[in-house]
Amino acid sequence: MMNPDISVINNTEPSAFTIFNANGDSEVLLLCEHASNYIPARYQRLGLTPQLLEEHISWDPGAAELARALALKLNAPLILGNYSRLLIDLNRPLQAEDCIPLRSEHHDIPGNQTLTATEREWRTEQYYLPFHLQVSRLLDARLQAGKATRVVGVHSFTPVYHGQSRPWEIGILYGEASDYAHLLIEGLSSHPLTVGDNQPYNIHPNEDMTVPVHGDARGLPAVLLEIRNDLLRNEQQIAQWATRLAPLLSI
Ligand SMILES: [Zn+2]
Repeated sequence: MMNPDISVINNTEPSAFTIFNANGDSEVLLLCEHASNYIPARYQRLGLTPQLLEEHISWDPGAAELARALALKLNAPLILGNYSRLLIDLNRPLQAEDCIPLRSEHHDIPGNQTLTATEREWRTEQYYLPFHLQVSRLLDARLQAGKATRVVGVHSFTPVYHGQSRPWEIGILYGEASDYAHLLIEGLSSHPLTVGDNQPYNIHPNEDMTVPVHGDARGLPAVLLEIRNDLLRNEQQIAQWATRLAPLLSI
């Protein structure tokens, strides 16, 4: 299990990403890096229980549904990752230590402890690079077409992390795009919400991919939306977030 035999991979695996509403003409490009908890069977759940695969360490519960709802409301293109972040994390630079995590919150990830170079390369080439190449291609095409673009990553976070309750219902995370981020934060202040300003996380070029690479480095406004995952548990909650957020994102 620790060194899955890559020669037995079949051709029925999903591609690294899905594009939803590809021809959407919004200025917003939506990304959902942690949309999926899918791990191919040969990895034997990386040694984790089925229950842990449903939890936040494997993906961002509710994020894909919210991202799709936003894509429809904004008529925006959306790119979703199709594999669990436990295999390789699309929102980490490749050189980050936890791009393939050895541990997540309270749990060691047995299937990531002793990886061969071949296996690392496989995950990079099959699950990671295609997603980022697609994002880059789409951004290049929009630039060439003279289309203004804002990059918005859609994520969810766990209400309790390492025993600490998190008070925010939503966080806006940003690096250089403080104008866009503050418009969003201000817009959200008309709702009865506790809004995190670069909370519950900071963006850091050594630890993040979407905002620094696809946004800041290109001079494009880029933010991550982080919504607390207990507020994304049903269609009604998701629709409410989409209704709140769509008009603010397209300001
Ligand atoms: Zn996430």
